[in-house]
Amino acid sequence: KRLVVLGAGESGVGTAILGKKEGYDVFVSDKGMITEEYKNVLRNFEIEWEEQKHTESKILNADVVMKSPGIPDKVAMIVKLKEMGVSVVSEIEFAAKFTNAQIVGITGSNGKTTTTMLTHYVLEKGGLDINMAGNIGDSFAKQVAENDAPFYVLELSSFQLDGSIDFAPHIAVLTNITPDHLDRYENKFENYIASKFRIAMNQTEKDYFIYDADDEVIVTYLKNHPIRARLLPFSLTKKVKNGAYLEEGNIKITIDNNEFNMSTTNLSLKGNHNVKNAMAAATVSQLLKIRKATIRECLENFHGVEHRLENVLKINNVQYINDSKATNVNATFYALDAMKSSTVWIVGGVDKGNDYTELYPLVNEKVKAIICLGMDNSKIINAFGNCVDNIVETQSMKEAVNIAYKIAERNENVLLSPACASFDLFKNYEERGRQFKEAVREL
Ligand code: ADP
Repeated sequence: KRLVVLGAGESGVGTAILGKKEGYDVFVSDKGMITEEYKNVLRNFEIEWEEQKHTESKILNADVVMKSPGIPDKVAMIVKLKEMGVSVVSEIEFAAKFTNAQIVGITGSNGKTTTTMLTHYVLEKGGLDINMAGNIGDSFAKQVAENDAPFYVLELSSFQLDGSIDFAPHIAVLTNITPDHLDRYENKFENYIASKFRIAMNQTEKDYFIYDADDEVIVTYLKNHPIRARLLPFSLTKKVKNGAYLEEGNIKITIDNNEFNMSTTNLSLKGNHNVKNAMAAATVSQLLKIRKATIRECLENFHGVEHRLENVLKINNVQYINDSKATNVNATFYALDAMKSSTVWIVGGVDKGNDYTELYPLVNEKVKAIICLGMDNSKIINAFGNCVDNIVETQSMKEAVNIAYKIAERNENVLLSPACASFDLFKNYEERGRQFKEAVREL
């Protein structure tokens, strides 16, 4: 059988390796350039490839095509393949067929990486032989090919889920749904919501679906589109029968009368959003029978993930916080929500159709000054002109941090939480975060 892989990134190359191992005739095609590192891998495995083009005659004869998540469905080659009835799948769909592992799949608009890493941390410390994949480290397909394990935690983007047909995680987590990536969904929020729920579409009564019961979008969708998996909600605001909730500052998780308890003050990750992430991770861990003492210890000790509300340094008693991964308004909402004192807020970048209304109360309450760092700051200035007197425009991270340093006083915070993509001034959010940290260290 012929496997054609479109896009030679981490998931594409991993799929090619797995396909080769499973006896497929594999061809890899990338419209852009393939890195030297990946070329070497393909050479080692004697896999044929091309770059800077898609040669139709070598692609249309595929039995199965794996499309990398970065390639939109509407590109001509994909449309043509689908018209011909060729199965076009994601890496996750392809690779899941070759492992018997139990899979925990984690999706949502925000919190995927944090919840995935936290869950993996607890499960591994709890003694499971468990791999982690999906936007983190080696691809799922490569791990299935080279060091398969009985358990996986997978971070799943909506693009990965779009290319699934039979994929069904044993435990699914949906952290939340807020508008994001709508350009890939015909600008229709309902299409994006449906894409996220594909994580549950093949689950059965034996599987579990863990979700944020405070998220109106999720709750409404579930009412209108019941799913088969057993529901385990988590909530900060209401008691739930089976699932996780808060009671007097304690996280309580009940699953079939089996109870877990932990004080939120002991959580290593701060902010209400991280209470939710911890609830999700602990619910998964309880389902997989990890000792409760281990779950508690892990939630107390997990160090957090770089660029997500990362404490950088305290200088003159001012806390500098790097939340560069906040590329949308909802993530920034939770960052501001987590600030315990007055804050100088560095914001801006490429606007994704942001609606800042939900931030007004928090900005009124906590933000002392706004430092805009983007090519076009007009929307931010218009949005917050009535909330904050001190709004400054800057041209570089260094300038932004230097000005923040002058404004912030003892016991206050300087928070980089851009609510925007980074591509106007930086290569990606990681570079933006690194420049912030460097500029802070130079202070
Ligand atoms: P993702 O992988 O979905 O982008 P991350 O864990 O990388 O999620 O976090 C992205 C941003 O969202 C960070 O700014 C982080 O502080 C914030 N965040 C993390 N968890 C949540 C959550 N449950 N709800 C809202 N925002 C969150």
